[in-house]
Amino acid sequence: MIRQHSFENDKPTLYLVPTPIGNLNEMSPRAIEILKSVDVIACEDTRTSGQLLKHFDIHSHLIAYHNFNEEASTKGLLNLLEEGRNVALISDAGYPLINDPGQRVVLAASEAGFNVVPVSGPSAFLNAIVASGQIVQPFIFVGFVPQGHGERVKKLREYKNYPMTLVFYEAPHRIEACLKDCLDVFGDRKMTLVRELTKVHEEFIRGTISEILAVVNELKGEMVIVMEGCHDDPEKDVDMSAVLDMVNASIEEGLSAKDAIKAASVKTGIAKNKIYDAFHNKDTVS
Ligand code: SAM
Repeated sequence: MIRQHSFENDKPTLYLVPTPIGNLNEMSPRAIEILKSVDVIACEDTRTSGQLLKHFDIHSHLIAYHNFNEEASTKGLLNLLEEGRNVALISDAGYPLINDPGQRVVLAASEAGFNVVPVSGPSAFLNAIVASGQIVQPFIFVGFVPQGHGERVKKLREYKNYPMTLVFYEAPHRIEACLKDCLDVFGDRKMTLVRELTKVHEEFIRGTISEILAVVNELKGEMVIVMEGCHDDPEKDVDMSAVLDMVNASIEEGLSAKDAIKAASVKTGIAKNKIYDAFHNKDTVS
C-alpha cells in the first residue's frame, strides 16, 4: 500500500494537466502556473503543444511522449523523476490518458512512490454528457470503438444490455458507419450527438439514432456520442450470445468462470443462474 499526501511531501511530482478542447480560455490559471513551474513538459506532439505553450508564454522544456513507444518514454520520464525533477504530462487536447497516452507512466510513477497529481480541466466526454439530456448516473465512458465493422459490432454487442448511458468518441469520417452499427445492435434508441464542443460551431443533436443518421453526412468536426442505456426488461429478448461473449472475454482476461458470470450479471441485469445455465449449455444458445 502506498499513501500519497500530494502536498505534504517534497517528492518529485508527475502532474496530469488538461489543455483546452477548443476554446483557449478554458486553460486554467492553475494549469498555466504548473506548466510554468515544472522542469519538463511531456506531450504527444511538440509542434501542437509548442503553439499552446507559446500562447500562454510557458517556456518549460518540452519533450515528446510517444504512444507507440510508451515503454521507452515511461523509462525516460521515470529517470527524470528519479533525478528529482517535476514533470507535467499533457496531450494534444483535453486530459492525458483519456483516449490519449499516459496510462503506463502514471502506473509506473505511482508504483515507484512519486506523487501523481491531477489538475482539473476540460475533457470532451464530461461536457458532452452533462449537457446531453441523457441520464448521467451511472454512465460508462467507452471511448473509441474499433474501426472495422466486424470488430465494432462485436464491441457494441458487449454493451447492448447495459442499463447505463454509454459515451463513445468517434472520428467524423466513421460516424455514419458507427451509427448504422449502433442502430443494428441497439435498435432505435435515443441518443445525443455532440460536436465541436467549446468552439463556435458547437452543436447538440438530441434525437433517435435513425433521426440523427438522416443528417449525419452533413456533419463535420470532432464528435462525441451519448447513447441511452438499455431500459428494457433485461430478461426480455436477451441476446444471450452477446452475454456469453462478455463472459468469455472476462475469462480470457483471467477471471474464473464464476466471477465472469457474476460480472456479466451485474453489467446486464440478467440473473446469474440464467447466464450460468446458458454458459454450461452453449450448444442450446443461438
Ligand atoms: N483527451 C481528450 C479528452 O480528454 O477528451 C480526448 C482525445 S481523443 C484522441 C479525441 C476525441 O475526443 C475526438 O475524436 C472526439 O471524439 C473527442 N473530442 C475532442 N475534442 C472535442 C470537441 N471539442 N468536441 C467534441 N468532441 C471532442
